[in-house]
Formats: sequence, C-alpha cells, structure tokens
Amino acid sequence: MTLSVAIVGSGPAGFYTADALLEADPACEIDIIERLPTPYGLIRAGVAPDHAKTKNVARAYEKIATNPRVRYYGNVEIGRDISIAELRARYDAVVLATGASVDRKLGIPGDDKPGVLGVASFVGWYNGHPDFADLKPDLSSETVVVIGIGNVAVDVARVLVKTPKEMAATDLTDYAAKAVQAAPIHQVRMFGRRGPVEARFTNVELREMGHLEDAAPIVDPAQLPETVTGEHSERDLRMIEKNLGTLREFSKIEPGTRRKRVHFEFFANPVEVLGGARVEGIRMERTKVVDGRAVGTGQLFDVPCRLVIPAIGYYSEPIEGVPFDRKRGVVVSTDGRVEPGLYAVGWIKRGPSGVIGTNKPDGDLAAEQILADLGAGGKPGRAAFERLVLERKLRVVNFADWKRIEAAETANARPGAPRRKFFRVADMLAVLDDTVRSVGALG
Ligand code: NAP
Repeated sequence: MTLSVAIVGSGPAGFYTADALLEADPACEIDIIERLPTPYGLIRAGVAPDHAKTKNVARAYEKIATNPRVRYYGNVEIGRDISIAELRARYDAVVLATGASVDRKLGIPGDDKPGVLGVASFVGWYNGHPDFADLKPDLSSETVVVIGIGNVAVDVARVLVKTPKEMAATDLTDYAAKAVQAAPIHQVRMFGRRGPVEARFTNVELREMGHLEDAAPIVDPAQLPETVTGEHSERDLRMIEKNLGTLREFSKIEPGTRRKRVHFEFFANPVEVLGGARVEGIRMERTKVVDGRAVGTGQLFDVPCRLVIPAIGYYSEPIEGVPFDRKRGVVVSTDGRVEPGLYAVGWIKRGPSGVIGTNKPDGDLAAEQILADLGAGGKPGRAAFERLVLERKLRVVNFADWKRIEAAETANARPGAPRRKFFRVADMLAVLDDTVRSVGALG
C-alpha cells in the first residue's frame, strides 16, 4: 500500500519534510496543505524584502512541489475548512509544519496599547501577508523603539532606515514603502536586556548595518567589554568575538552626512509602555548581566516614541485536537512525534529559533519516525481528501495556480524588483478567474 502523508504548512519545515520523505520512501504520496493561496511561509512573509538571495531557496521547494508524488493544496485552512481529526482519518501520517505566526507579548503594563506591534504583525505588514496588510502602523514619530537584539530586530531596523533607492530592487510592498518613506523616522533605538556578548544577531546581518546609505549604526564603546567572560562553546565564542569586533568598529563610526541613526543599546529592559489610549513612550530599566541573566538595577529612563516593536520572538497557535504547551508555545511531542501518525516539525515543534536550514534535520527526523511507526500505509490519502474538498466546495489553489499568481506578481513588478506581491487573497484568486487587474489595485 502507498504511504499517504499530509503536511500542514508550506514553509521550510514542511518542504524539508516532504523532501526527506521522497528520499526515504520512493512510493509515498505527499500532500502539502496551506492556509494561504501562496506557498513558502516565512520565506515569503518573514525574510526581509532586501534579502532576495535568502528567498532563492524557494526554487528548491518548487522542485519538491512539482515532484509527481507531491501535490500542493493552497487556500485550505486546517481548523476552519478541515479538522486535524478528518485529516488523520484519511492519511497514514499528518505532519504539523504551521510555524509560529503570533506576536510574543512583552508581558509588561501597557503592552496591549495600539502602537505596540510585535514582529509577526509588523514584518507581516511590510511583507504583504494578507493578515497584516491593513495594520497601518503609526510611523509618525522620529523615534521607533525595537526591543530585542536578534536578527529580526536588525531586519526591522534596516527596513525602517534604508533609502528608497536601497529598497527599489526588493519586493517590499508599495504601501509599506510609501508609509516608511513618508515617515519622519530619524532614529531606531534597539534595546537588548542583556549585553553585546549575549546578542543574538549573526555577524553578516550585523555588519550590513555599517553599510547603509543614509543611516549610521551608533554604539556606546563603554558598553563593550574588553574580553569575553563566561562559558561559551567554541562556535559561540567565535560569533561573539566577531560581533564585538563589528560593534567596536560601529562605535568609532562618524555618521558624517548620513541623516538616520540605528542605536544598539545594551543592558536595558522594558518595564512599562507609557501613554494613555496610545503609546507615548517606553520606560526602560538599566540592567547588569549576572550569571548570564539580566538583573534590574532600579535605574529607570523613559524613551518617547509612538511605535514600539518587540522583536522578541514569535508564538505558535494551538491546533484543535493537538496537545499544546501554552507556556512554550509549542506542540507537546517527543522530538516531534506527538503520537504514531501525528508529527510536528519546525517552529511549532521546537519554538522560534534557528535559520532556514535548521528545519532540515527536523524533516529528516520526521520522515524517519513516520517510516518506523507506519511502514507501508493503508489509508486512502489523497483520493479521500479530494472527495472532502469537493463535498465542502473548497476553493483549492494548486501549484499551477500559484505559478499563475506568481507570474502576475512578476509581470507587475517595479523595474528591477523581483515581484509586486498581492496582499489580498481575493486579488490572488481573481488572477485565477482571469479578471483583469490594474497595477493601481495592487497597492
Ligand atoms: P532571537 O534571535 O531569539 O532574538 C530575540 C531577542 O529578543 C533576544 O535579544 C532576546 O533577549 C530578546 N527578548 C526575548 N524576550 C524578551 C523580553 N521579554 N524582553 C526583552 N527582550 C526579550 O529571535 P528573532 O530575532 O525573532 O529570530 C528568530 C530566529 O530567526 C533566530 O534564530 C534568527 O537567527 C532567525 N533569523 C535569521 C535571519 C537571518 O539569518 N538573516 C533573519 C531573521 C531571523 P535574550 O537573549 O536576553 O532572551
């Protein structure tokens, strides 16, 4: 019997699982089910628009999606259209690869005020994710505060200070480009609750901040240690030394004619978002690092701003019928195996960390577990799923449909840009209905 597998979610973790299964079982049948019409998860909606090279990995995913044993079912939402129980009744194995799509909260007074926008929302907004296209962030103050010193914080800061010329050849949505360019943003203040040694950014991403056309990185040399103390693996130590080297260079930079600033500020933890109905600032507490942990010193200072962007990670949404650890925001599993027949990979399995390639071992392990647990399959798989889709009159977007949507995005691109993204599901579906759309309606 053919082993049938449904993978829920079409980001990197989903595709690496499909790839590993294709390798491990030459006869298996794999269906990738995606909530949006468009595939690739955070490759499309998370990776910064000016990091086009990173997005090239989608070409490898396309090869997987067009393998004759794989089918893509876009625009089908598990939970809304079809339940996990219904999938499990039809497929030998179901793999959850739904990622982490919700903002992690700061957990301090005032963090629910309009004007506090986590990165799932804010990055989703500038990247044209249909859930966040209408966000309208308040960009009306000179200062934007970003909390966190990881790669996403750096992405956000960069997008906020790059010039129109620097962003011209990217797939940044037109509405975000217009809003950012019209904004009076003069400085982005990025705060880490711990020090430069504990910063999470990787060195290539950090160094990029020293090469911006109209923005200079600002670092207080007094916050940089002369030597690294504490216990670190050799690999971590190399990264820390490189980052410290880059930060030292930043601390000597003369902004010259560059008009904007990106401040890297360490040892400061947010304690309260200030303001009435809207954000008017944020209260920070100076910290010191003791045994690797940030400890408050009681010394407070306020930073006026109208937008606070916590870039402190993402959170996964629970899935009905699947055990969920609300504290960690992940599915309860043993190394990805929820129980025989149900598996998790990527951020919903292990939390929001690691780079794109970190998902590959997850996929390999899930394929191994599936074959060990189930061997040859027995359930009807695709045929039964397609019957359900027909019964429910679901509007499925298959991979050929996606390629038509993509062709329209490419055809509508600004000169030099890779695509002009659709950010409304209705507009994506209208392409398939052969409705003539004007460039103006795209944003
Ligand atoms: P991250 O690397 O985990 O960084 C999160 C930052 O938020 C850390 O500085 C963390 O400080 C801070 N933080 C967490 N909770 C906080 C709180 N309650 N208050 C104040 N600060 C808090 O996460 P990320 O930047 O979202 O990135 C997610 C993953 O995607 C990472 O593995 C990243 O490397 C990857 N990524 C890679 C790229 C790239 O390669 N170009 C681009 C984007 C993302 P502590 O360290 O003190 O907890």
